[in-house]
This record gives sequence, C-alpha cells and structure tokens, in this order.
Amino acid sequence: MNKIHHNFDVLVIGSGAAGLSLALKLPSHLSVAVLSKGKLESGSTRYAQGGIAAVLDSADSVESHVADTLEAGGGLCHEDAVRFTVENSRQAIEWLIDLGVDFTRAEDSGEYHLTREGGHSHRRIIHSKDATGRAVENGLVRRVKAARNISLFENFVAVDLIKQADPATRRLRCTGAYVLNIAEDRVETFSCKATVLASGGASKVYLYTTNPDGASGDGIAMAWRAGCRVANMEFNQFHPTCLYHPKAKSFLITEALRGEGAILRLPSGEAFMERFHPLKELAPRDVVARAIDHEMKRLGADCLYLDISHKSPEFIREHFPTIQARCLQYGIDITSEPIPVVPAAHYTCGGIVVDTHGHSDLKNLYAIGETSFTGLHGANRMASNSLLECIVYAHSAAASIADSIGKIATPITAKDWDESRVTNSDEDVVISHNWDELRRFMWDYVGIVRTIKRLERASHRVHLLQKEIHEYYSNYKVSSDLIELRNLAVVAELIIQSAMGRKESRGLHYSLDFPETAEIAVDSMLVPTNFAAQEIIVSAPEKTR
Ligand SMILES: Cc1cc2nc3c(=O)[nH]c(=O)nc-3n(C[C@H](O)[C@H](O)[C@H](O)COP(=O)(O)OP(=O)(O)OC[C@H]3O[C@@H](n4cnc5c(N)ncnc54)[C@H](O)[C@@H]3O)c2cc1C
Repeated sequence: MNKIHHNFDVLVIGSGAAGLSLALKLPSHLSVAVLSKGKLESGSTRYAQGGIAAVLDSADSVESHVADTLEAGGGLCHEDAVRFTVENSRQAIEWLIDLGVDFTRAEDSGEYHLTREGGHSHRRIIHSKDATGRAVENGLVRRVKAARNISLFENFVAVDLIKQADPATRRLRCTGAYVLNIAEDRVETFSCKATVLASGGASKVYLYTTNPDGASGDGIAMAWRAGCRVANMEFNQFHPTCLYHPKAKSFLITEALRGEGAILRLPSGEAFMERFHPLKELAPRDVVARAIDHEMKRLGADCLYLDISHKSPEFIREHFPTIQARCLQYGIDITSEPIPVVPAAHYTCGGIVVDTHGHSDLKNLYAIGETSFTGLHGANRMASNSLLECIVYAHSAAASIADSIGKIATPITAKDWDESRVTNSDEDVVISHNWDELRRFMWDYVGIVRTIKRLERASHRVHLLQKEIHEYYSNYKVSSDLIELRNLAVVAELIIQSAMGRKESRGLHYSLDFPETAEIAVDSMLVPTNFAAQEIIVSAPEKTR
C-alpha cells in the first residue's frame, strides 16, 4: 500500500472553537493542516447554547469576573490564568464580532444583550439567542474555508503523536502525528514544526453526557502517552439539566433558563433548591447537580423538572427558540409545562498541563481548549468561561508559534506506520462491549458522588479492560472506534487515579468517605513515567505502533 506523508508548518488536531481560532490567528504565510474526526462542526462547540462570559458591561469589572471564577473554582483556580483569561475577554469577543459572529442585541438599547448564569454576579454572558456555539462555529468555519494557507481534513483521526530528537539539544520534540484516514482506511503521516492539540474534552467516558460522540479525550490520552503531565482529571462537571426523554440523545437545557427565572421542581411540583443553597437555582452547577442527584435517589425518581412556564410564551419563544422547538418535537410544550431533566457529564476541567501560551511539557506540542489544563477552572468551571478560554488561549498559542516557528528545524522524515504484524479484526463486538462496560462503570462508580470502595472497583475493572484493549490494539488494524476506546480507557484510568488521590471533597469531586474540604488546595498532578520534560535522547525513540 502507498504510504502517504503530509508536510505542514503547523498541524492542528481539532476543528472546534479552539482549533479554528488558532488556525485563523496564525500568520498567513504558514501552511496549516486542521484535522477533524468527523465533519468540521462535529465537536462540542456547535452545541454550546448559553454563551461566552466576558467583561463588556460598564457596571462589570475584571476584578468581579476574576472573583466569581475563583469562588466557583473551590480554591483550586490559578489566579494568574484566571486574570490572563478575563483581561483578554473583551478582545476575544471583539475578534469574534469582527469575524461576523452575530450576537443578540437588546431590543430597547440596541446594545449587545448580556445574560446571567450560575456563579456570575453580573450579567456578562454574550450570546447568539440560545445557539451561541453554532453561531461561533459557523463564523469560524466560513473563515477557515476561505483561508488559502489552511488545509482542512475531515474524517481524519489522529492516532498518536510523533516524537523526534531535536538536532541541537537532543531533547525530544513533537514533529506531528500518525492519522487514520477513515475514507481510505489507512494511517498517514503528518509532519510539522508545531503540533496543536485542540481535540476537546472526555465526557464520553460517562454513560450519560451532553457531549457529541467524539468527546473521547483523544488529545489527553495522546499527550499522556507522549510523556506530558495531566492534571485535575477528577473534576468532571455534570450539567444539572439534560433533557430526559428516551428519544432525546444528549440534549442540554441551558443554564440560561435558570438565569431567566426557571424553577427546579420535584415530581410533586415542590420547589426544593432553597434547601441546598441560598442562591437556589443560581447556585454553582456542582451544587445544583448534586441536589438533583440527591433528590432523585431519595425519591427513586427517574427525573426531576425544570419549569419556566410562568414566563410569557413570547418571552420563552424569543429567548429560547431552539429549546422550545426541540422539546416540542418530543411533545413537551415548555410554555405551559415543566421540562423533565437529569444530570449528565458535561465538561472536563482537567487536562494536559500548559502555560499561558498553551505550551505542554513536550517541545513544540501545544494544547488549547477543553483538552488543556490552564488552571482557569480549578475544581469547578464557571458557566461560559470555557468558550472564552478556547479563544484566549488559541490567540496566545498562535502568537507563540508565530514567534518561534522560524527557529524550528524541519523534522526528518518520520518512519511509516507499521501494520506488518496486524490483521483485520473479526470480532468487533469486543470493542462495542468494552465501550459500554467502561462508560457504565464510570457512571456508576466514578460519577457525581464517589466512595473509596466504588473507586477501587472502577480501578480494578479499568486495569482489566486496559490489558484486553492493549492486546486487541496490538493484533488488529486500527479503526476509529478502537482508537477512541483505547483513549477512553486511558482517560478513565487518569480520572480514577486522580479521584483516589484526593482525600477530601472539593468543587466537583464529592466523596462520601471524605466529605470535608482540606485547608490547603492542591492540584492532582499526574506525571507519566516517560515525562517528556526530562527525556534526553540517545537514539531515535519513534514508535509507530
Ligand atoms: C451541550 C453543550 C453546551 C455547552 N454550552 C456552553 C456555553 O454556553 N458556553 C461555554 O463557554 N461553553 C459551553 N460548553 C462547553 C464548550 O462548548 C466546550 O468546552 C468547547 O466548545 C470546547 O471547544 P474545543 O475547541 O476545545 O473542542 P470541540 O469543540 O469539542 O472540538 C474538538 C475537535 O477535535 C476533533 N478531534 C478530537 N479528537 C480527534 C482526533 N483523535 N483526531 C482528529 N480530530 C480530533 C473533533 O473532531 C473536533 O473537531 C458546552 C458544551 C456542550 C457539550
């Protein structure tokens, strides 16, 4: 079979808000490849409803946005990262507006309409009705399609990163990735001077999630295997309100509904949030998700209800057209009845450790967006800070690449992907079975409320699965399902390991065995045995499988 090699200045793995913003911010003389596992719009970005947090109102301030983020983050936010993000928020939004993103304006003043969400002390969420992610993604896609220096590769799945020794320092550096071309069913080699992981989160590791199918933590797993540190993986945000309906797959009911006055109710109709937090429905997400989980378990209920029917039908139609239309498809008229809801895995707060320019531990490897750990979110992400983080860090990483790329030596030709010892699988059921098993035990044992016993059970199971997956991976040709399963197992192990190490309850990590919060807040920093920042190369370490 012909071996295919691609050469670019920059390889961007991911086409969501982070990856596309970075690609557009790079100087136009650089050749850039952007990969997407499916269609360009297949990541989480398109699904974002609520909006983007930014300091835009004269009554608001950087200090206030910083203080709210630190408060939500449960003592674990890195204040420098929070300040960096918030201080650059206005500029990030202005860039999107210049790109043509159509944010909603207030009818009376004509100014951009700002909404409020849980944890925010001001109205600071700029939005495009209730489909902000779609507006942002569409704006970015339009621009990248028109950019002559950017090549787009849809249905290309990165399998693993390529490492080579830097000719000058002998230190390892990243020089691209092996990538499965799904249409041609072959693994191709992408060589480049700088590689950017913009591959989104890992919420697919849980049975119930608001995320699209590709959110399997590929970037985190690839970076870990390549020797990068990963931090705070135990902090998985569960969105409190996902539509509960047998036919609705992963449909989120935005927090903005609660921001505009929607009330959470038990099946009896009773409002209950005041028993859990003085801010009631506007309490931080973790508090709301745990309250719902608690009440569902106490009552044995399949779901609870979110009610906005006390607002006028015109108001609901104007502010929440997508949610209203989608619920109507399932026979629920939100202008006159409450919406059945359950919590679901929503956001990965931890990820690949990076600095304010998105540098990871491996030279010339960057990570931005949900796959990264910048320190912004701490133990709990504040609503609408994530799209902001995508844009701000995409811009800072692009600036760093633009500054440094002239000094990076062209990589030597990488070895071809080696398929000489593998055959076509005749037992794909192994993959689908292990996918289901993994996601179910993560939901049952490593979900909203944890215990040592549950985590030990999960740890035992994930090790068995890892062994089986490794054997399968070594013997059969790769497919996108196998790549994702292999990555999900790595991410699951990292989550379990981090959760077992945290002997307290903080933010999104709640343990019945350790309900108290420790006085000193410490990140869960996992260091791989092949820690890249310390690897000095004697001979070329490339592994092709
Ligand atoms: C339903 C929902 C609502 C949300 N609402 C909001 C909101 O209102 N405000 C807010 O700030 N945040 C919100 N979020 C979170 C926010 O949308 C995400 O954190 C953000 O979009 C992540 O962007 P990203 O660019 O990092 O990744 P994504 O947009 O997820 O994109 C990931 C990209 O990586 C590609 N990829 C992954 N693995 C590979 C691989 N192995 N090879 C090649 N390509 C790969 C995917 O194909 C995709 O193109 C919401 C999330 C969801 C799911």
